[in-house]
Amino acid sequence: MNRSTLKGLLAGTFKTAEKPLTILAGAAALTAILMSFEFNLLEAHLYDFRMSHGPQPEASKEIALITIDDKTLKALDEFTPLPLDLHARFMEKIGEFKPKGIGYLVDMSRVHQLNPELFIHEWGIRFVNAAHELESKNMPVLMGTPFDVMGEVVPPYPVSALDHSIALIHKDGNVFSQDKVTRRALVRLYDKPVFHTALAEKLGLIARNESPRGTYFVPEVDGHYFFFRYHGSTAVTPKTQAMPYPHYSFIDVLNGKIPAENLAGRILLVGTMAKEDSGDFAGTPYAQNPMANPKLAIHANILDSLIRDNGISLAPAWINSVITFLLTAFVFWWVMFSKPLSGVLVTLGLAGVFLLFAQLLFTSSGIWIRASQPLVGILVGYYLVVPYRLILEYKKRWDYQKRNELLVQVEELKTNFLQLVTHDLKTPVARIQGLAEVLLRRTSDRLDSHEKQTVEHIIDSTDELNRFITSILELNRVESNRIHIQLESKDVNQLVERAIESFQAQCRSCDVRLETELDPLFPIRVDAALTEKVIKNLIDNAIKYSPPGSRILIRTEEKENFVILSVSDEGIGLSQEEKEYLFTRFYRAKNEKTSIVPGTGLGLYLTKYFVELHHGRVEVVSELGKGSTFKICLPIEQPQSIAAGAAERPGLVVRSIRSILSRKGESHV
Ligand code: ADP
Repeated sequence: MNRSTLKGLLAGTFKTAEKPLTILAGAAALTAILMSFEFNLLEAHLYDFRMSHGPQPEASKEIALITIDDKTLKALDEFTPLPLDLHARFMEKIGEFKPKGIGYLVDMSRVHQLNPELFIHEWGIRFVNAAHELESKNMPVLMGTPFDVMGEVVPPYPVSALDHSIALIHKDGNVFSQDKVTRRALVRLYDKPVFHTALAEKLGLIARNESPRGTYFVPEVDGHYFFFRYHGSTAVTPKTQAMPYPHYSFIDVLNGKIPAENLAGRILLVGTMAKEDSGDFAGTPYAQNPMANPKLAIHANILDSLIRDNGISLAPAWINSVITFLLTAFVFWWVMFSKPLSGVLVTLGLAGVFLLFAQLLFTSSGIWIRASQPLVGILVGYYLVVPYRLILEYKKRWDYQKRNELLVQVEELKTNFLQLVTHDLKTPVARIQGLAEVLLRRTSDRLDSHEKQTVEHIIDSTDELNRFITSILELNRVESNRIHIQLESKDVNQLVERAIESFQAQCRSCDVRLETELDPLFPIRVDAALTEKVIKNLIDNAIKYSPPGSRILIRTEEKENFVILSVSDEGIGLSQEEKEYLFTRFYRAKNEKTSIVPGTGLGLYLTKYFVELHHGRVEVVSELGKGSTFKICLPIEQPQSIAAGAAERPGLVVRSIRSILSRKGESHV
């Protein structure tokens, strides 16, 4: 292969691959840009939607909540936090219910602030002793403690003697969405297990130092987090009072009003849930209103997710990049090459399908694919391609317009040229014909038969040429819109008879019989000259394309507001394809029989045009080899516009150009 062939081959390959390569490069560039943005707020909304919709795992039956709620406060005539004596009494009582373990989520430092003396005297000791007794009976107790700038807020003495860990509800305030919604939880802080982990470890439900699914390390806080799963709505609104975990009032436990089996064998989370205390509530994917979801329910979900190891794990960034790239490339390609409506629908459909796929993966396998970049990619991809495509379309249209203008000019030139030529030809042809006729008349007795035949041929050929010139002139008049219809009342039968008269000699020489079945007709308003031309053309064709010895039937009748004239022959007939092009100018069927018959291919074009000037129509029924019937239907009543004599047909030149282009398969000018 020499160098120029290789160069040509490379150029050809590049040309075919140019569009796909541009699309791939565009999609890659857009993906790279999108991956450098986080779209955290959008992602958080999508995350919340996925978390709170679709099938969700059921809340564990192992966990129950004991709430220091408004009912408790009212019954005891107290405010939160309850004084220590009530907590000690609760601790002494709860053993009767034989729970599996107790997570005590009451801020003891606040309890201490209210009544410090209760801690020093009897009640502090009683609380601790009761807890120890529970532990000795295999019912572990873990105190949940708050966390402040100094670190863990350790419970005051003597409660500090009990096991305690930080129980934090992490509101997303600094990173990710920053919308104060709780989506993730600490597993370990400074390498020490926090409340939920410690409780699960204490209860032997998870192995020590085990990291739940989806755990990740945040070096800035030296803590391990995981995105935990919710198990049903946490929102306590007047409408949805029910929480996914069974919950009982503190006071009812204290008064022994709860059937023992309700608490037996369960992990009890004890905490405050008083309506007036905003610290007892937080935002969750179900309700972002900070007063809608009790923190106690969030703690239960974290513990549940930890025990069942069903946290959410984030798909690696490269998967996100690949998905974004594929989706944007698809949108680029589709919007570029499809129809506008399908572009919109497919873009929306693709976004929908992707979201559905992401949702299914999230709910069924707990895999979180970031949806924001692919979604933004789809939409931005669409909005990038649409203007580009518009520019291309405009360019195409502009080219067509230019071509159209050029064609109109050419058409006008051609019309003028034909008019000039045909007009100048008409006179010499008429002179040749006249002279040949004189020659034949004056010298017929002196010419031998061969010479006579030659002169007759001259006359026939000039006749044919004359007909051709007349047709071309007629066409010119039609195309330059110079035909004006002159309506008058006429009996179509009379026009038929006159036309038949003129074909008698031709019929005799071709050995064709002309028969008529003319129903009596009322005169209708037609242009007599044009209608006669139409009739003559149909009869002329029928004679030309019929074999000797055959019959041609001409019928007229009145039917449904139309005068119908039909010319039926037993001639060569027409194929389906021929019928399609029959009324196109210069069209002649391409077969042996037609080729030996002289003709211009203009007769039927003009016929149709003249009939349509009358607001009529032409129909053809034909079978190859069997014959044809051409029917013209002329309306009995002419519409007002043409009855007044105006039969303008503007735009005809452009229409004829269109017909040329459409024949070449370019119909979009
Ligand atoms: P021309 O007869 O001068 O060729 P027309 O426009 O009158 O032009 O007819 C177009 C073509 O239609 C003819 O060339 C012929 O192939 C076909 N055609 C017209 N009339 C008949 C007919 N009665 N039977 C068969 N073919 C016909």
